[in-house]
Amino acid sequence: MRLDQILAAKPATLSFEFFPPKNERAWFTLEDTVEQLAPLGPDFVSVTYGAGGSTRGKTREVIEHIQGRSGLTAMAHLTCVNATRAELATLLDEYHAAGIANLLALRGDPPKGQERFVPTDGGCAHAIDLIHLIRADGRFTALCAAFPEKHPDAPDRASDWDHLADKLAAGAAAAITQGFFAVEPYLEMRAHVAARLGRAPRIIPGIWPVTGWKSVQSFCRFCAAAEPEELRALLQPLEADPVAARQAGIAFTVAFCRRLLAAGAPGLHFYCMNRSTAAAEIVTALRLGGAAI
Ligand SMILES: Cc1cc2nc3c(=O)[nH]c(=O)nc-3n(C[C@H](O)[C@H](O)[C@H](O)COP(=O)(O)OP(=O)(O)OC[C@H]3O[C@@H](n4cnc5c(N)ncnc54)[C@H](O)[C@@H]3O)c2cc1C
Repeated sequence: MRLDQILAAKPATLSFEFFPPKNERAWFTLEDTVEQLAPLGPDFVSVTYGAGGSTRGKTREVIEHIQGRSGLTAMAHLTCVNATRAELATLLDEYHAAGIANLLALRGDPPKGQERFVPTDGGCAHAIDLIHLIRADGRFTALCAAFPEKHPDAPDRASDWDHLADKLAAGAAAAITQGFFAVEPYLEMRAHVAARLGRAPRIIPGIWPVTGWKSVQSFCRFCAAAEPEELRALLQPLEADPVAARQAGIAFTVAFCRRLLAAGAPGLHFYCMNRSTAAAEIVTALRLGGAAI
């Protein structure tokens, strides 16, 4: 099903993000995870696209598997890395033939060993070029990425959020954010984008289920984001007690999601890391508290 129809029908969506498994054992883990999360009734799930286009075939294979087996609506992540426009157009044909109707249009990070993103000759320089290409094709709903703490390459928040507004104006049906841990930057980003767009933007918070300080640290390193001091103060003293740290992290995430939903966030997108338990606990707690996701 196309996501623009789902988004039009639901004020707040629930979604989960997976990555293509690296080996047979990881396939089984992902299958278990999908099986455990499916009863929560997510509005969609998404599958990432490896750096440099390395998992191109696998992204499609995982989505075909999930859609075929569980009937869930799925979205393929797609980047501009190492692809000409002609190659991207061929990929769109392949995705359409595989029953994929939804794409998260991304620029992508530079491949390993390359410091800055360099567009492929004849390819797309920015995510917005890919959105134009997908919109011109007409067979897919396109979503895009957003960065409440600003994208690491951007000189400042304002210019980065202007580019986000432009992606939504170009036809991205919604944006999904990178993981973040404080509500204020999300609200500032949303207000900035609304002012430039002239309408309320649909920006779905990406939620990193917190289960311990080390995982927050490695997430921040991976995304070149600042380490959240509030979480450091909460979790660092519990490092010797992983059970207590996990409990505190989950409680923090539930409270964070509640604040986002109370502020009108149009859904929650969970970075599951192909595991089900933390995300399922958080969604269950939110629903028990009355959240309509
Ligand atoms: C929800 C989510 C899922 C992701 N999934 C994947 C994945 O599966 N695979 C993967 O490789 N990466 C993934 N990423 C990471 C993403 O590819 C990188 O963060 C990438 O560096 C930026 O992608 P973007 O789509 O935001 O790029 P863009 O929107 O092109 O922005 C990149 C930079 O260029 C600037 N910019 C944008 N447009 C213009 C313009 N017209 N002129 C000048 N500057 C401009 C922006 O401010 C920003 O600094 C994901 C990120 C998010 C938030």
